[in-house]
Amino acid sequence: MDINEFIKDCKENVLSGVGITSEDVSKLFKIPEEYVQQLGIAANQITREFNGNKVDVEQLNNIKKNSCSEDCSFCGQSAFFDTGIESYQLPSAQEIVIRAQKAKDEGAESYCLVAAWREPSPNDFDKVCYIIEEINDKVGISVECSLGFLTIQQAKKLKELQVKRYNHNLETAKSKFSEICTTHTYEDRIKTLQIARDAGLELCTGGIIGLGETREQRLELVLELASIYPEEVTINILVPVPGTPLELQTSLEKSEIIRMFSIIRFLLPESVIKISGGRETNLDDSGEELLQSGANGIITSGYLTMGGNEAKKDIKMIKKIGLEA
Ligand code: SF4
Repeated sequence: MDINEFIKDCKENVLSGVGITSEDVSKLFKIPEEYVQQLGIAANQITREFNGNKVDVEQLNNIKKNSCSEDCSFCGQSAFFDTGIESYQLPSAQEIVIRAQKAKDEGAESYCLVAAWREPSPNDFDKVCYIIEEINDKVGISVECSLGFLTIQQAKKLKELQVKRYNHNLETAKSKFSEICTTHTYEDRIKTLQIARDAGLELCTGGIIGLGETREQRLELVLELASIYPEEVTINILVPVPGTPLELQTSLEKSEIIRMFSIIRFLLPESVIKISGGRETNLDDSGEELLQSGANGIITSGYLTMGGNEAKKDIKMIKKIGLEA
C-alpha cells in the first residue's frame, strides 16, 4: 500500500474508534523520513478531533532538589554524579504558595510538585500534604505531584487532598531500563503507577527520548504507554547534563522527535500529550511544530534543573499557531 494511503487509513481507524494495531505502529516507526510531515498532519487532525484547540499549560516546582539516591544516568539530580547543581530540601509552604499563585496568574492550569527522591519519608510526606492544603486553600490551582514511589496509603491521601494527577515516568523501554538505572527496576515504576491508579488518581507517565535507545525501543515504550492508557503522557527530549554518563550523547533528529509524538497521538487519541524538558533546547521553534503534530500540552517557565521560555512567550506562541492557552 502507498505510504500516504497507509497513514490515512491509520488516521481513519483512530477517528472511527477502531484504533490501530501494534503492527501498524511498528510500520509507522519505519516510514521514510519524507513522510513524517504527513504523519504529523494526520496526528494533528486526531488531536483537534478529540481534544479541540486547547493546549494544556503546566508549571513545575522542584520542591526538593538534587542529591537523589537513585542513579538514573540522564539525571543531573542523582547523588551518583557531580553535576554542580544546587541542592535544597523542602522550601516553606508559604514560599511554594507564592510560586503557585504566580503560575496561576501566568496562565498555568496545573501546578506540579516534583521531588528528587526515591520515595517520600513519612515526615516529608506530611510536609508535602500541608503544602498541598495551603495551595488548595490560598491559590486554587489544580495540583499534581511527582514524589517517587508511593504506598497505597500515601496515594489515597493525595487523592483525598484533591491531587488530580500523579506523575511517574517509565523513562524508557523496558529492554533499555537496566542500562539507564540500576537502583530500581522498571517493575517498581509500573507498580507505582498501579498504586496511584488504584487510589483513584489520574496518571501522567512517559519518559525521555534521546538516551541512545533504538527506534525499536521507542516502539516498545509507546506500546507500553498505550497499554497503561494514562490521562497524560509526558515526553522529555534529552538535554545532556555535564557530569552525567550521558553528557556526550548526540541529539535525536527532529523528524524522530515528531515521529514519536505523532505516533503516541495515534495510540492515545484522548490523552494530553505533553512536551516536557528539552523543548527549547532541541527544537528551534520551541515546540510549535510538535503542537501541530500530536502534542497538546507544554511545561512553561522552566524545568527541574534548567530554565525554559517565559510563560508569556509560550502563550504568545500558542496563540500564534491558532491554538488556545
Ligand atoms: S530521575 Fe528521579 S529518581 Fe532518577 S535520579 Fe533523577 S530525581 Fe532521582
